[in-house]
Amino acid sequence: MNIEEEFDLIVIGSGPGGQKTAIQATNAGLKVALIDRERKVGGTCVHHGTIPSKTLREAALTITTLRRNPDVFDFKLKDDMEVSTLMKRLDSVLGSYTDFISEYLTSQGISYFHGRASISDANTVSLTTLKGSSSFLSAKYIVIATGSKPRTPSDIEVDHENILDSDSILSMIYLPRSLTVVGGGVIASEYASIFSLLGVKVTMFDRTSRPLIFMEPECTEKFLNHFTKNGGEYIGEAKYESIKWDSVSQVITKLDNGTVISSDKMLVAQGRIANTQGLGLEDLGIELGRNGAIPVDDNYQTSIEGLYAVGDVIGPPSLASVSMEQGRRAICHALGTDPGSKFELVPNGIYAVPELSSVGISEDQAREKYGNDIIIGRASFDEVARGQIAGFKDGLLKMIADSKTLKILGVHVVAEGATDLIHVGEMAILNNNDVRVFLENVMNFPTLGEAYRIAALNIITKHAERLARKPESRIQNLIEQAELN
Ligand SMILES: Cc1cc2nc3c(=O)[nH]c(=O)nc-3n(C[C@H](O)[C@H](O)[C@H](O)COP(=O)(O)OP(=O)(O)OC[C@H]3O[C@@H](n4cnc5c(N)ncnc54)[C@H](O)[C@@H]3O)c2cc1C
Repeated sequence: MNIEEEFDLIVIGSGPGGQKTAIQATNAGLKVALIDRERKVGGTCVHHGTIPSKTLREAALTITTLRRNPDVFDFKLKDDMEVSTLMKRLDSVLGSYTDFISEYLTSQGISYFHGRASISDANTVSLTTLKGSSSFLSAKYIVIATGSKPRTPSDIEVDHENILDSDSILSMIYLPRSLTVVGGGVIASEYASIFSLLGVKVTMFDRTSRPLIFMEPECTEKFLNHFTKNGGEYIGEAKYESIKWDSVSQVITKLDNGTVISSDKMLVAQGRIANTQGLGLEDLGIELGRNGAIPVDDNYQTSIEGLYAVGDVIGPPSLASVSMEQGRRAICHALGTDPGSKFELVPNGIYAVPELSSVGISEDQAREKYGNDIIIGRASFDEVARGQIAGFKDGLLKMIADSKTLKILGVHVVAEGATDLIHVGEMAILNNNDVRVFLENVMNFPTLGEAYRIAALNIITKHAERLARKPESRIQNLIEQAELN
């Protein structure tokens, strides 16, 4: 085996996980190689996921603003609207973003290789270029950050033209008149709500009774209301019996409850599987887990010393934000440096319309842990001046606190801006704050952040009422809790 070049670290995959790993390592003085089978760096996050979907979302929101103001804008979307026109900004966003990352990686001294990588042994990576030539690179450490791809059930024929997945949905030429979405998870809910805002008739179905089943029911209810108000339909507790393209113009979906849905296009969003094929992991004795995920320990090290895996390739939560942090931690472990305390809080951020976000525990989890010793505070966005101004009146911020200490246990938000707003709650939980922190300190006005103050006040009021009542019996206590929550 001819080793072409020796490095301290080889990173396979240039998505957020791989990038952060490489940067962390060069900052520590390591000689780093970064390999990707795509010519451009960025991974799913930049080319198929986070950034493209959010660009379309921005277009949908702009169109909504125009529609909301008929006195100012005489606005109508063209009948044969091209998706690429809606995403005109994408090329420039992607171009400048990938150029910036590439230049940054080069300025850090990271060597970029374009080709498909597989692992020959714990210290050697084989690199095959598009033209088929192979070479070998060696390193003390290897980090796999190869991400994931859409999972397609074997009985759905995804042709990427009529039946699409999240990698191909934005390659549609025209905005369809109707779209069926299979799944009720994050990607399904994001695209379903974005397309329905664009005037597409969207039908989403899933086995679960409501979409985003892992989120607080009060928040998903608000999301669902908004989705239905915009013409979307959610069919819960339904499985498909068959999904077929009729070879003319429609995708025909038969559900087990007898419903038949006919639509121009379909999006299959049935989860994701790890990109582990062809990496040679089986030959190294690494047994893969659910959906092909690579098993790792708390330091993101596989069963082989010096071989790490981070990001989507190790499974949920499959977020760009988490992938980056895992990459940083893997390098800290390899070099024996302190990564800081273990992160326990990972905020959920869902860029549906409206956004949903949460941090900490849910009401159900809080009840399981603390029984009735919790108080729930709510702020409806029609009470928040900025919510009124911006027209986000149906938002909700729900805060859960320990009724003895008033410490914040969880925050759940549904509203435009929820994914940013959640960080205030995240910091309060991380700092072990109680709800009074929102009453005894000053925040800007008018802001959506005022919702924290309103929810905290709601908790303080309920707490005072609870103390004043001094329940005498357990039953009375239970009745009171039910009234107060
Ligand atoms: C529609 C959609 C919306 C999303 N929205 C969000 C969001 O709003 N917020 C958020 O945090 N996350 C979001 N995500 C998830 C986010 O994109 C992923 O969590 C993130 O990209 C994972 O980063 P990664 O570095 O692990 O892998 P990836 O970004 O998938 O990168 C992996 C890279 O490895 C390369 N590769 C694979 N195999 C090989 C090989 N054998 N040799 C060489 N290169 C290889 C691939 O070409 C790819 O470039 C979204 C995902 C999708 C699909």
